[in-house]
Amino acid sequence: MQTILCGNFEKATTMKQNLYQELIQTSLQDELLSDAVCQQILTSADVELLPLLDAAYQVRKTYFRNEVQLHILNNAQNGHCPEDCHYCAQARSATAEIETYSLKPDAEILAEARAAYESGAYRYCIVMSGRGPTPKRVQHLAQLIHAVKTEYPIEVCLSVGLLNAEAARTLKAAGLDRLNHNLNTSEAHYPKICSTHTYQDRMETLRAAQTAGLACCSGVIVGMGEENADLIQAAKTLRRLQVESIPVNFFLPISGTQIAAPSALTPDYCLRVLCLYRFLNPRAEIRIAAGREHHLRSLEAMALYPANSLFLEGYLNATGTAASRTLQMIRDAGFTVKMNGEVAERITSPRTPAPSDVVIKELEVLRPRMASAD
Ligand code: SF4
Repeated sequence: MQTILCGNFEKATTMKQNLYQELIQTSLQDELLSDAVCQQILTSADVELLPLLDAAYQVRKTYFRNEVQLHILNNAQNGHCPEDCHYCAQARSATAEIETYSLKPDAEILAEARAAYESGAYRYCIVMSGRGPTPKRVQHLAQLIHAVKTEYPIEVCLSVGLLNAEAARTLKAAGLDRLNHNLNTSEAHYPKICSTHTYQDRMETLRAAQTAGLACCSGVIVGMGEENADLIQAAKTLRRLQVESIPVNFFLPISGTQIAAPSALTPDYCLRVLCLYRFLNPRAEIRIAAGREHHLRSLEAMALYPANSLFLEGYLNATGTAASRTLQMIRDAGFTVKMNGEVAERITSPRTPAPSDVVIKELEVLRPRMASAD
């Protein structure tokens, strides 16, 4: 009896090990996972988290070693958007209490590019609210991008809404490296999160950027009430588009945004989504984007096994953990920061705790009942 049980256990263990090996091999051979296997990754208790993370790490390591790319966002124009993206605090339909302003002056954007470079960012992301830029705004942005690229050895990514082919060519000629334009979800779910533009509008912007020779950054927001199938479809569409970079955001419910029923996300589920995106897009830069701190919580560092990139110092309208803490997390987990030039050594040197970091407990903390009796 015992032998049979042991035999079954070994068989089950071997089958499971085969599953993780198959995920690695399928991904490295650029083969597509079936929807059924993708669903299993996201939901099956038989697919255990630690070996799954290890399998995703084998793929990540093949293309990105142990490096982490840091991105810093510049919210260059905030609010007053005529669009109604339900997840966005800047939408016309949102009542979120955010600071709104029109496009920052060039000098301010340049100064922030310098600060991003000096804090070790590999890429500086200039983000603007709005449906899309006018031809005059495109010319202005082209001059600005040229100035940033001339001053600092940093990659520049731009997020400006919908863009046509001519605008994409102008920005490419000015030195723009990447265009960000998120698909956010599947085509089927898109009408539930926005009514002022379509999924096809977004696809056309990505195609215009690619035709102009720009690299594309396009990702998703997890937790907007979508089904697992929507996340799987979005990952497969991004694979077909061969986008270079995929930010995986976890929906941050800023008060006043219009997502009616956000999904309850757990750290386990968020990590599974990151693993799925890595297997389906093995060569893409997978970024742990907004919501990293809120939804991954104590498992944040584990996300570095499938993902190779993150945002430093917060998001568009929500703050994140301090840069020093994020850098410490990266180092502690055994990863290195991919840098531009000479700032690398300064910001990656390890810091040992100083005596002043250790706070001695006071008596009211040690003996709270005694303190309240006084
Ligand atoms: S177009 Fe951009 S800024 Fe405007 S509502 Fe949509 S996501 Fe927000």
